Amino acid sequence: MDYVVGGGVSGITVADRKGARVIEEKAELGGIHAPVDLGVLKVPGEPVLSDSVCGDFNAIDFTPRIAFEKDEYLEEKICGGSCPKWLTLSNVRYLVLPKFERHSWIRARVRRIVGNRAFTSLSKSLEFDRLYVAAPPQELGLSGGDYVSAAVIIALVRAWDKDWDIKVSGDTSKLYTRLIHVPFGEHHLLYVEKYYRNYPPSWDRIKSDVKRFEKLDLDLISIDFRYRIIKYGILIPGSYERVDLADNVRLCGRFADWTNPGFCESIRLAQEC
Ligand SMILES: Cc1cc2nc3c(=O)[nH]c(=O)nc-3n(C[C@H](O)[C@H](O)[C@H](O)COP(=O)(O)OP(=O)(O)OC[C@H]3O[C@@H](n4cnc5c(N)ncnc54)[C@H](O)[C@@H]3O)c2cc1C
Repeated sequence: MDYVVGGGVSGITVADRKGARVIEEKAELGGIHAPVDLGVLKVPGEPVLSDSVCGDFNAIDFTPRIAFEKDEYLEEKICGGSCPKWLTLSNVRYLVLPKFERHSWIRARVRRIVGNRAFTSLSKSLEFDRLYVAAPPQELGLSGGDYVSAAVIIALVRAWDKDWDIKVSGDTSKLYTRLIHVPFGEHHLLYVEKYYRNYPPSWDRIKSDVKRFEKLDLDLISIDFRYRIIKYGILIPGSYERVDLADNVRLCGRFADWTNPGFCESIRLAQEC
């Protein structure tokens, strides 16, 4: 049996191509963009903003009003090098609404790979013929690289009256870096992203910054909100230490070359794996 570790868009693409079974640790498939339960409804964990459509995912026309602020400091503020294209995309045309429904996948965390066995959080190990890894290799006991994490507040809000939909801020006096407003049926979603290296910031501090600088009181305008951490948000290119893997184990997607492809590019990379 062939398996794919990681149920993000890369892992799902590889699994479809190779007829392999996905092993995913979280309760939902989709990785960064997996649905998050807001009580009244499920919303994308991160929206996919794109200048093109790809795969067989649903996309709606969406041309957001984008405001950049002190973007010359962006790399210094969060990436420490070149920032991913998806972060500063200025010609957004589509909002992709991915659905990640699959018939069968295994919910487990892979902890270690020894020979042709994957040791997981389940009581027994899984024997594989081929193993595709579309998850951070260091989580599996393989070598890894540096990364920047993202703390994200997802708020379901009643109305939206700002003159922008996306604001990208390189201002180092603000904790947050990106705010994204997207329509969602009869509702509006607001994503507030803070990128960090070491310790996750408290969501109270992020909220108070948003209130102070953007005059947006999340406690007042939100119907509901969630706080989530995306540990491997931005991978620092060049920091990955390669190790020799067995012939039947292969890294796929962004974790293979330790770069930061967008959603559509991730699908392309995974198709080539
Ligand atoms: C905050 C943010 C916003 C983005 N916004 C956009 C955008 O607007 N437009 C765009 O084009 N691109 C965007 N991207 C980039 C793009 O979506 C990603 O490159 C792509 O989704 C990566 O998918 P992936 O499957 O490679 O990785 P991931 O989505 O990270 O999937 C990895 C999966 O592996 C699982 N996993 C990890 N460890 C284990 C383990 N030990 N055992 C089992 N499972 C494990 C994780 O739970 C996860 O589901 C964004 C990225 C980030 C971080």
